[in-house]
Amino acid sequence: MRPEDLLRPMPQGLYCPPGDFYIDPVRPVERALVTHGHADHARPGNAKVMATSQTLDIMALRYGEDFAGARQVAKLGEEVRIGDVTVSFHPAGHVLGSAQIAVEWQGLRIVASGDYKRRADPTCLSFEPVPCDVFITEATFALPVFRHPDTAAEIGKLLDSLRHFPERAHLVGAYALGKAQRVIKHLRDAGYDEPIYIHGALKKLCDYYQSQGIDLGVLEPATVEGGKKGDFAGAVIVGPPSAFADKWARRFPDPVASFASGWMRVRQRARQRGVELPLIISDHCDWDELTETLDELAPQEVWVTHGREEALLRWCELRQMRAKPLHLVGYEDEAE
Ligand SMILES: [Zn+2]
Repeated sequence: MRPEDLLRPMPQGLYCPPGDFYIDPVRPVERALVTHGHADHARPGNAKVMATSQTLDIMALRYGEDFAGARQVAKLGEEVRIGDVTVSFHPAGHVLGSAQIAVEWQGLRIVASGDYKRRADPTCLSFEPVPCDVFITEATFALPVFRHPDTAAEIGKLLDSLRHFPERAHLVGAYALGKAQRVIKHLRDAGYDEPIYIHGALKKLCDYYQSQGIDLGVLEPATVEGGKKGDFAGAVIVGPPSAFADKWARRFPDPVASFASGWMRVRQRARQRGVELPLIISDHCDWDELTETLDELAPQEVWVTHGREEALLRWCELRQMRAKPLHLVGYEDEAE
């Protein structure tokens, strides 16, 4: 028996023949197991979806209650039989509700980790290492140049800027699921207790995080109807990155353009986007987190997907760890 008999890439996504299901399918299928709520992993239109209750809630918020024909809640750590396969979900540390999916069949266990990170995130459960024969890892930041700095220090840059420029609005671009709430929570944990203003596109997910016990403090809508431009002097305004390119952003006084992303490690990207205050905050592993995870799990085989596969494959080769690229299409780091 080969691992490919248990999981293999297909045009629709990663397919499990003995369980007849797909993990994070990119096209509608009969049965989908979904790792987390980002749009490139969780799509509407599947007949049956199994995911953590938080991921199911997030899918309903984003796509409407009819996002799937039927839902099945995956409880973390609980083993469930699907066909001839035993599946279980384990925290991935990526965003609220995110999970790795372990599939086991005839003594062989493969863990599909989806997207994951290892550093502390106050808005979701930490990644749980699951022993396995084959580990499927993402490779979003799989180059040695990507070493994400300490998150508290990045948040400190934003707080410093607020102190230095009390008359300027600080616009922080952050993706709507996970990053926005994480930036807000880190600000709160650093003692920032002013109201934080949010773009309308973030409201539903911020409300949901609050309902799940993640205290984001006082959030106000970043609307200026009837107000004066100076109303947002010295304020923190969080919005999806796309909003900062349009008219919405121009209403704020002399804004400091900031963006929270792992890509901010690349100065050219920050410059291209007109980002004055880049914050290197990522929901994906950096190079060290990836390699440390592979060392820790020491699987017999590593499958590398969505990202810069080459460097990680080479690293595995030097470690005499068997590895191959998994050619999956349709995943493009929404979270970054
Ligand atoms: Zn993701």
